[in-house]
Amino acid sequence: MTLSPKHQTIDVEGSPLHIPEGINYSCSGCGRCCYGVAVPMTEEDYDRVSAIDFSKDLPQFDWSKQYRKLSDKEKANTNYTHAIKSTSDGHCPFLINKLCHIHGKYGEEVKPLICGLFPYSFNRTPSGVYLTVSFRSNAVLGNVGTPLTEQLDTLKEKLRVYETVYDEGNIIWDKIKLTTDKPLNWNEYLELEAKLLEAFVEGENTPIKDRIYAGSSVLFKDLTAPPAASNTIPNKMDKSFLASLYALYLPHDPKLKNKDVHFNGIKFAAELWLKPPVFKYGKKSYTYETLVEFPWSKDPAMEDLLTRFIYSRIFGKWYFGGGFAQLSVIAGYHHLAMLLALARLHSTAAAIDRGGDSVTMLDIMQTVRQLDEKIGVAVLDGYSAALWEMVLFSPNRVHRILDSCFK
Ligand code: SF4
Repeated sequence: MTLSPKHQTIDVEGSPLHIPEGINYSCSGCGRCCYGVAVPMTEEDYDRVSAIDFSKDLPQFDWSKQYRKLSDKEKANTNYTHAIKSTSDGHCPFLINKLCHIHGKYGEEVKPLICGLFPYSFNRTPSGVYLTVSFRSNAVLGNVGTPLTEQLDTLKEKLRVYETVYDEGNIIWDKIKLTTDKPLNWNEYLELEAKLLEAFVEGENTPIKDRIYAGSSVLFKDLTAPPAASNTIPNKMDKSFLASLYALYLPHDPKLKNKDVHFNGIKFAAELWLKPPVFKYGKKSYTYETLVEFPWSKDPAMEDLLTRFIYSRIFGKWYFGGGFAQLSVIAGYHHLAMLLALARLHSTAAAIDRGGDSVTMLDIMQTVRQLDEKIGVAVLDGYSAALWEMVLFSPNRVHRILDSCFK
């Protein structure tokens, strides 16, 4: 892996497109991009696709019920109006034998616009558009294919599609803050991010938890961190918060896998002292201790995947402010640390569930894919956001959790 704090910037019709180095992708035809979300459509998409009578080709679906209108909240900042409902096991109904039925029978141009965009992910900010890729794709998970920096013509075309679908300038980036009482302007943020990425990618064989700690130290450079706790073992709050995030992002019940991800802060506060933290997988529940005592693999490919996953969230600005629930930079960054812990816990539960004696690349790939799907649609109300700011401020909490997860 050759992730770099530097990146390439190209001019696309007068506006900068920033492309990360060290991230590769070429379509492997895995069909995974067509899983996990209701496919959004513009009005034109909807008119074009719904005008076709699919009942003869795909009689297993009731086409009068297979599309739905988006709510005002879902449509915000986009030109989407409708969505294709997923099947009960979470895939697009047009995905047949890992191939798109619309593409195969009616042509690529008939598919919804979003299908041509995926897994490229653009984020418009005050300093231009930042490119990353979604970790729902097998090729992205394995970092397989052509470097993004060598796909310039494709990227220009994809950016054109993105700009057709997403409104300009509605994403809120003007209220960003380092932590709740420390506002940042955009240039201050960019300077901080450059140092954060530099610390994060430092050293080829640096363990992922040390990368996180190095980034956290950069963010706290001019702040007073809370005093170090005497107890270095995760406490009840640490484990309960993780268990809540786990239930939200990695639900064990297949019926919950397609549900919205809405963190309920009031329920969390009420349950904190009443319920023991448990982590479910399949039909079994595990304690935190059981999962973190299970051996963690030192496979460099797994470290590489986790490092690229976190790096992409930072570079793409998908972890704070307009990129994630208007969280502060510190809370958003420490939330990424929680995702790493969740990846460890869930992939371990998967390994135990299948009777394995260690976590494999496949376990971690499935977990990261599911996390990527869910954090993209996570919703926080005002109370929950305030609670996250409080819980996620502490670097000590991050150390306690990651030290126990990645021994
Ligand atoms: S319409 Fe085709 S390309 Fe788009 S999500 Fe469905 S199966 Fe995949």
